Amino acid sequence: MTDSNPESPDARTPSNFLRDQIAEDVRTKKYGDAVVQTRFPPEPNGYLHIGHAKAICINFGLADEFGGKTNLRFDDTNPEKEETEYVESIKQDVRWLGFEWDRLCYASDYFGRLYEWALELVKAGKAYVDDLTADEIRRHRGTLTEPGTDSPYRTRTVEENLDLFMRMKQGEFPDGSRVLRAKIDMASPNLNMRDPVMYRILHATHHRTGGEWCIYPMYDYAHGQSDSIERVTHSMCTLEFADHQPLYKWYIAQLGIFPSEQIEFDRLNLTYTLLSKRKLLQLVQEKRVNGWDDPRMPTLSGLRRRGFTPEAIRAFCAQIGASRTNGTTDVEMLEHFQRDDLNRRASRAMAVLHPLKVVIDNYPAGQEEFVDVANNPEDPSAGTRQVPFSRELFIEHDDFREVPPPKYYRLSPGKEVRLRNAYFVTAKSVVKDAEGNVVEVHCTYDPASRGGNSPDGRKVKSTMHWVSAAHAIPAEIRLYDKLFTKADPYDLEEGQDVLSNLNPNSIEILTGAKLEPSLANAKLEGRFQFERVGYFCLDPDSAPGKLVFNRTLALKDTWAKIEKKAGA
Ligand code: ATP
Ligand code: MG
Repeated sequence: MTDSNPESPDARTPSNFLRDQIAEDVRTKKYGDAVVQTRFPPEPNGYLHIGHAKAICINFGLADEFGGKTNLRFDDTNPEKEETEYVESIKQDVRWLGFEWDRLCYASDYFGRLYEWALELVKAGKAYVDDLTADEIRRHRGTLTEPGTDSPYRTRTVEENLDLFMRMKQGEFPDGSRVLRAKIDMASPNLNMRDPVMYRILHATHHRTGGEWCIYPMYDYAHGQSDSIERVTHSMCTLEFADHQPLYKWYIAQLGIFPSEQIEFDRLNLTYTLLSKRKLLQLVQEKRVNGWDDPRMPTLSGLRRRGFTPEAIRAFCAQIGASRTNGTTDVEMLEHFQRDDLNRRASRAMAVLHPLKVVIDNYPAGQEEFVDVANNPEDPSAGTRQVPFSRELFIEHDDFREVPPPKYYRLSPGKEVRLRNAYFVTAKSVVKDAEGNVVEVHCTYDPASRGGNSPDGRKVKSTMHWVSAAHAIPAEIRLYDKLFTKADPYDLEEGQDVLSNLNPNSIEILTGAKLEPSLANAKLEGRFQFERVGYFCLDPDSAPGKLVFNRTLALKDTWAKIEKKAGA
């Protein structure tokens, strides 16, 4: 962990059963004096998402707590789906999240060793070459209630198996014509133990080993042995691998190698969110979003572009911890941690998204002045800045009504309001266009209310943000909504695909926003609270003279409300 500030909120980690298990193993010296060794093992077949962030925080975070080490290992055993682009993005995202790996490893580094071990199992009569097709193997496997049936090739001699397996490796046979299977138990109640496939033939180019191999190990055969080679003590993975654990143990026991152990924890599921690389890839390929880093994506690169911070994501992951049963977390909880973080660190600024011109009739034309404004009321050390004020301003269209509905306290004819940090103003008259739309509001101001302070105890019910028209800089603003319309995107009608639950209005682009001039210096890593509007950050699509801001989140914290309702 690069940031080990004990005051940071994520340092106060709630307990979870994984930590308890590791603490127990350390106490009983299960692995002697060996350090706690973990690994984060992504397959480089897509970009990391917020679910991976949980696994990263668990693996790196727990190793760190126990003075141990974590490897980043690419589980690259599917050459057809894997690419170097994904490897690079994964490295970047792990570092962005605040973690540094001990060793950078690839399952493909172990192809030679895995092959040697496979030969060992063949020689010991514990693996055989099967000529059945994938379909036939599936049919022979049986079901949960019926035992499997032996392949007719199960009784091949060791010599024949050795010869065929070596020829498989030498490329003599076409794809799919033969596999190597472990010889375990076709009647096992665990289907994974019914002679699982260890190797398949695939004449494909691998992102690292190129054309060197034409047989590739299956996940189950590669994973445990890779852990063992790296002397991983705690191989933490998600619950869907629980049924694979007996097989994980079987290979390690047969080979008599370092006894890595697998422990399963719950997968992160978030409401309104899809966390499957395969499905996210489909969104990208079908151009339903603008790439893996589209700010609506739950990928780490999307969240980063949206303005999420590693600190908030780590604090969220620490809070959700780990459990032995799967559940679903409200996406509002992630947003709550992000707001909390941004509230502390974001620079305040004024920006008008839907501008309406205001002219202050009694303010001298051509005059300008600067009001002193705190950059972050939560953080006095953030200092102040000078914001220009002049006769012509922009306010939000929504902050003026010619005919105010009941309880509307913002600007309307005859009503006085405060322009934040500046003056009290009273609306006097409007100018309309040919269609009758208000295009300009004329006001008067009270010079004695400078700084937004009441000169005589007179109260106003509303304080509004504003931008000086002459000084304003234009910007494009991108507002985001949830990518899916249903809390469970898999809540589908008969025959529907999950993409039919995509929200058609997940992005809104505003091209006419007006910003206070200090935002011209915004940096990509900057975080802003546009007062009364939300949290924003600069988008990399920005260019000199053409600023684009993303709304990270609106200000309203719905999670705080949910928590309050639940009496938490
Ligand atoms: P996906 O289905 O999105 O492709 P995966 O499990 O196939 O996910 P991997 O690249 O194999 O993705 O995962 C690397 C590690 O991240 C694994 O240990 C996996 O258990 C973990 N992981 C993946 N998704 C989640 C999630 N939603 N919550 C927690 N851990 C996850
Ligand atoms: Mg996977």
